[in-house]
Amino acid sequence: MPPFEEISARPLDPRLLQLSGISRASVEAHHRLYQGYVAKRNEILALLDGVDLQKANQVFSDVRALKLDLTFAIGGIKNHEIYFAHLGGGGGDPDGAFRVLVERDFGSVDAWRSDLRATAMAARGWAWTAYDRDEGRLFNYLGDAQNTFPVWNATPLVALDVYEHAYFLDYQTDRASYVDAFFENLDWDAVNGWIASYSIPS
Ligand code: FE
Repeated sequence: MPPFEEISARPLDPRLLQLSGISRASVEAHHRLYQGYVAKRNEILALLDGVDLQKANQVFSDVRALKLDLTFAIGGIKNHEIYFAHLGGGGGDPDGAFRVLVERDFGSVDAWRSDLRATAMAARGWAWTAYDRDEGRLFNYLGDAQNTFPVWNATPLVALDVYEHAYFLDYQTDRASYVDAFFENLDWDAVNGWIASYSIPS
């Protein structure tokens, strides 16, 4: 196996502790889950370093088990890094480059928000607004877990966590109210910063 470097969890931004409608306790617990994904990513890669490649087998093997759950750990890292980085803002309607893309690809901000809300209500894990570089447009994708169902060459710009750990403490089973709170805390500067840094055309 090629060598790997351990990575560290990003610290919890203090502004995440003062969200509207999502409690500090909920965010702190959520961040601990994220730290766990980072630790497991490092643990799995270390184990892969010494795995017996000759025993690779599709029914069960260490290679299979480690590589399968590596995607869950990495998904947990990437999704939550987006999630935490774009919360703490003032919400409201998007502005800047993201707004331009949304209006072009969904017709209106309201249409985008309605579609993402429905995607979140229909998902068992995540809903993402991502830019597909092959199709050249935004789409709201549905994920049932950290590692389902990413689309190659698409870049997520909004990541809405709808695992129950994201909202049960604050809303019990009322996911819709949590989704409302999510929208109220989005930081459009963060989203527009990704559009610029990833050179997404708009
Ligand atoms: Fe989560």
